[in-house]
Amino acid sequence: MIDTLRLSAEEAMKLVDRGEVSSAELHASYLAAIGERDPELHAYLRTIEASDGGGVPIALKDLITTRGVETTAGSKILAGYIPLFDSTVASRCRRAGLPFLGKTNMDEFAMGSSTENSAFGPTRNPWDPERVPGGSSGGSAAAVAAGLAPWALGSDTGGSVKQPASLCGIVGLRPTYGTVSRYGIVAFASSLDQIGPMTKTVRDCALLYRIIAGRDPCDSTTVDLPHPVEIPEREDLKGLRIGVAKEMAEADGIEPGVRDAVDRAIELARGLGAEVGECALPRSMRYGLPCYYLVAPSEASSNLARYDGVRYGFRASEDDRVRMYERTRDEGFGDEPKRRVMLGTYALSAGYYEAYYGQAQKVRTIIRDEHARAFERFDLLLSATSPTVAFRLGERTQNPLAMYLSDLLTIPANMAGLPSLSIPCGLSEGLPVGLQLIGPQFSENTLFGAAHALERALAFDYVPERLR
Ligand code: GLN
Repeated sequence: MIDTLRLSAEEAMKLVDRGEVSSAELHASYLAAIGERDPELHAYLRTIEASDGGGVPIALKDLITTRGVETTAGSKILAGYIPLFDSTVASRCRRAGLPFLGKTNMDEFAMGSSTENSAFGPTRNPWDPERVPGGSSGGSAAAVAAGLAPWALGSDTGGSVKQPASLCGIVGLRPTYGTVSRYGIVAFASSLDQIGPMTKTVRDCALLYRIIAGRDPCDSTTVDLPHPVEIPEREDLKGLRIGVAKEMAEADGIEPGVRDAVDRAIELARGLGAEVGECALPRSMRYGLPCYYLVAPSEASSNLARYDGVRYGFRASEDDRVRMYERTRDEGFGDEPKRRVMLGTYALSAGYYEAYYGQAQKVRTIIRDEHARAFERFDLLLSATSPTVAFRLGERTQNPLAMYLSDLLTIPANMAGLPSLSIPCGLSEGLPVGLQLIGPQFSENTLFGAAHALERALAFDYVPERLR
């Protein structure tokens, strides 16, 4: 029997390579685990029975377009939409021989931090089913943490890979903007959206990034990586300069247990030979979140205009065409996408464009420059990923601002287009705490190396306590 809870993708790959288990047997073992545990967790919106490819199976967030498999982005407005083509990341996974296990649950159009905005009901955290798995890639995070997939893909616009990885005790990478194709990804905020790996180990994360990264002629914002992806082996941090931004360490709302776990990780990094010093990101921390909530809704309002009942999924039955548009959008979108469309349409309207969207884009340059200055003195920056551990279902649903603050620490690096990852660094109140590492553009290899050394030293057990 395969212990899907503990098996890393790399170990699974070795079993397949040595002929000890077939890809089809692996697939079947994960489907059996899904049958057992997913009724409680609801990490998947649908599973995929057919197994082809010969490799280690993967779960895909449901905004990743898959040929012949319904793709809803967690929204009723896309229910019944069966794409005729594969996204580039899906076809790269197929080409690498990774069969698909299924499509994972998510906040509607990736708008949210708890997966409670899914039109198809929430996902629960495998560490404590009364709590959220984070979001918007909560389904992918819960699937990996609960042994329902060896690895998964999520998407990160403002923190949607890093934050759920943090809340579920797994590894999540948000790659350098432009290194992973967005072709065939249901668009939220195009200048920020990136697909990222969600895995049990840092090495798995590098292996999956190697499969999906690189220039794609179908997405003109992509580039080839300046150097090949290295699978990390590093065991120390000698010679590495790590910066800790005062404003991130002292931000309002960081739970004491989170702070303690991060402080212990900093001590460990010192012990491994890193040089840790203080830096400052005052403007990024002050303006990052508000700036994101102008840019992201503006781009979302434009991207969501295509859902009119004519081209995709759901259509309200109505004879009059304009009434049909209106009712389709009213009935098809949930509250959060509607809120974003209203915010974004307002921010982009004539007379306000310069004051809001235009201004936010200028602030973005300031955020980028501030990070560039920090990287003159440091190789990497370190902080908590989420200010809190997993919160209870319902705790933040009535207060959008409290929900938005979940991404306070993940958004600044995203606004600057930088790569960052989250690894688990300990427990607080019995729940996982995530550590965020941020690097300059294209520094994924440095991030993987440092994260791998820390992961070894931290020796975090990624199997949720209640499932051991
Ligand atoms: N929680 C943030 C939002 O709701 C980020 C979501 C994301 O990264 N997709 O916009």
